[in-house]
Amino acid sequence: MQTMTQRVTLELRRLKFESHGNCVSCKSPFTVGDTSHLGYGFDDTPLYVCDNCKDQLKETAVRHVFLQRPYTVPEPSSKLWRYMDFTKYVSLLSSRGLYFTRTDCFEDIFEGAKGLKKRKDGWDSHYLEFFRSAIRNPPDGVECKLSDSDVEEQAQKLLRDLEEGGEDHKKRTFVSCWHESEHESEAMWRLYSTFLANAVAVRTSYQSLYLSLDRDPSIAIGRIKYIDLKNSYAGVNDAFWRKRKSFEHEREVRALLSDYGTQDLGKIVRCNLEVLIEEVLVSPKAPGWFVHLVNDVNEKFGLNVKVSPSELNEVPFF
Ligand SMILES: [Zn+2]
Repeated sequence: MQTMTQRVTLELRRLKFESHGNCVSCKSPFTVGDTSHLGYGFDDTPLYVCDNCKDQLKETAVRHVFLQRPYTVPEPSSKLWRYMDFTKYVSLLSSRGLYFTRTDCFEDIFEGAKGLKKRKDGWDSHYLEFFRSAIRNPPDGVECKLSDSDVEEQAQKLLRDLEEGGEDHKKRTFVSCWHESEHESEAMWRLYSTFLANAVAVRTSYQSLYLSLDRDPSIAIGRIKYIDLKNSYAGVNDAFWRKRKSFEHEREVRALLSDYGTQDLGKIVRCNLEVLIEEVLVSPKAPGWFVHLVNDVNEKFGLNVKVSPSELNEVPFF
């Protein structure tokens, strides 16, 4: 077996990100536990391949055990919306960047949570058992010489570390939230603008959002799954991709990144606005002059995008 060189270029990371579930050579899907091989072919092109195709690698950069992502990725053309006040829109244009909010700053106190506090005992005993078993059964060739009380002490410590890590994770995780829908939503106008007369909605798609962030493989983009915490938990790696059922109407798709080097409450990530913004819709409650204002501001910031009135104001016939 080739020695891993650990030489992972941006193009190689992008390749893995974009074809996550499949071998790029034979196209067969990975299943959990498979080994995936990242490296470069004999003509130096980046490759992300399965066991059967690994001989195509001239250089193996790194191997991974395949794990499913904790989220599903929308179709490239899936429409994503962001409803906002005009001031936020101007800020988007002037910073030419998307604002990612630190997850402990959201109103939803369950952001990043693994479950209901009253059901924590069940979670704890599951992970304690998992840790005890891992400590007692080290890899082949290593012998566990710990007494039962040592095993228990170590398992309890790992559980505490897991819990502290969960709290800390909220301060390291930043997200930009979007609403996935084919159509404009009357409810979202009300929910996400404090002053409806001066609100706009930016429409993009999964593909445009990803491209506008320069195909950055360190920014995950996926759907939130809504779960019933009375009967389930969010897994260790799932917590920022799960919300309570009561938020189902949001149909959220989020872009998520981790940053361990900042204390800030948010981050602006540079973004190609021409690629991101497919259309700007103006609030159904906006006065006629507001469309012109949005157009003027776009022009001032050198942005050439279509501005349309809300479809909710189309005229009916009876
Ligand atoms: Zn293959």
